[in-house]
Amino acid sequence: MKAPPTTGRAERRQTPGEAPGTTAATRIERWVRPEIRALGAYPVPDATGLVKLDAMENPWFWPRELRGHLGERLAAEPLNRYPDPHADALREILRERMGVPAGSGLLLGNGSDEIIQMLALLLGGPGRTILSLEPGFVMYRMISLFAGSRYLGLDLTPERFDIDLEALLDAIERERPALVFLACPNNPTGNLFAPAAVEAVLRAAPGVVVVDEAYSPFTDRSLLPRLPEFPNLLLMRTFSKMGLAGLRLGWIAGAPEWIAELDKVRLPYNINRLTQTAAHLALEHLDLFAQQTRAIREQRGRLFQALSRRPGLRVWPSEANFLLFRAPDGPGLFTRLRDHGVLLKNLHGAHPLLRDCLRVTVGTPEENQTFMRALDLCLSGAESSLNTL
Ligand SMILES: *Cc1c(COP(=O)(O)O)cnc(C)c1O
Repeated sequence: MKAPPTTGRAERRQTPGEAPGTTAATRIERWVRPEIRALGAYPVPDATGLVKLDAMENPWFWPRELRGHLGERLAAEPLNRYPDPHADALREILRERMGVPAGSGLLLGNGSDEIIQMLALLLGGPGRTILSLEPGFVMYRMISLFAGSRYLGLDLTPERFDIDLEALLDAIERERPALVFLACPNNPTGNLFAPAAVEAVLRAAPGVVVVDEAYSPFTDRSLLPRLPEFPNLLLMRTFSKMGLAGLRLGWIAGAPEWIAELDKVRLPYNINRLTQTAAHLALEHLDLFAQQTRAIREQRGRLFQALSRRPGLRVWPSEANFLLFRAPDGPGLFTRLRDHGVLLKNLHGAHPLLRDCLRVTVGTPEENQTFMRALDLCLSGAESSLNTL
């Protein structure tokens, strides 16, 4: 970088907008694309000291019996060398353990968020439309905008949060989206869309349909075995919700031709050695992680029953590791729960269909009990404060 110009001659070369002393803010105003300036960075609240039930993390650590192996394997990694750029060994065991159909292509990402970014770089951009359903996963919209695409979010049906098929097929016909995202199960509503509607979208969409199965450890339904039937289906999953959010590893499978195109916009070495090694070990012992996710499913049922019994609350059935519920004063309840040491996700204001809604991640039995106790305190507190009015 050159020192700021000080001579008269140098000053004459400056255009008015670049005068010395121009603040970062002025330059940002001029140069950062308006649609990015209008956004806020992804908010991650501080959870220090709180029971953290806001981010769909698995509440359990890496299985105890594998910790020694993990340490040994990680310590043996030559961290002076770049990782395998294609993570071949990891992709091979992943195919086998996850049942990726033979003949499908497979690509890894630094979390599925990175894969969404690759998809938007490949298929989005000015003049391209990316379509998804709302309320839905916010990264579809954000990343579409980052890539300069037009984003269209179609509303789900009220109450059931299912696909409004007629409206969606109309939108597909009218907008010809390059890319459609369907999260099955959907976040933050927790439900699966009607299978016939998903198939209708696959048949109607002119471009790619990405079915995001981030919550597959918590449901029995999957399109993975049927992947070869649909030339425009890409199926995406992540290690995050099964208990390894800290690794940052996602994957996407589909026709090898599509995966080869996607691979062109992937950054080299996007999966680091520590992640490749740890994920490989996890896949060798998938049963231990399955025990954890089974326990979460069981806890989900209990938590659903408990919430359903609380007068004034409306809770939706879920095929994911979280529950969506509505309370008389959602935002107030969110704050009171936090004051009682429990952090949930406040969805009030995120979408009109989520008025007064909160989302709770299913935790350990102890965490769920702590949450329910705090909830009961807050609900009774709300009643008494109303009574004193
Ligand atoms: C959590 C989530 C992801 C994010 O996955 P990462 O692999 O952690 O980036 C993707 N899709 C949906 C629908 C999610 O809820």
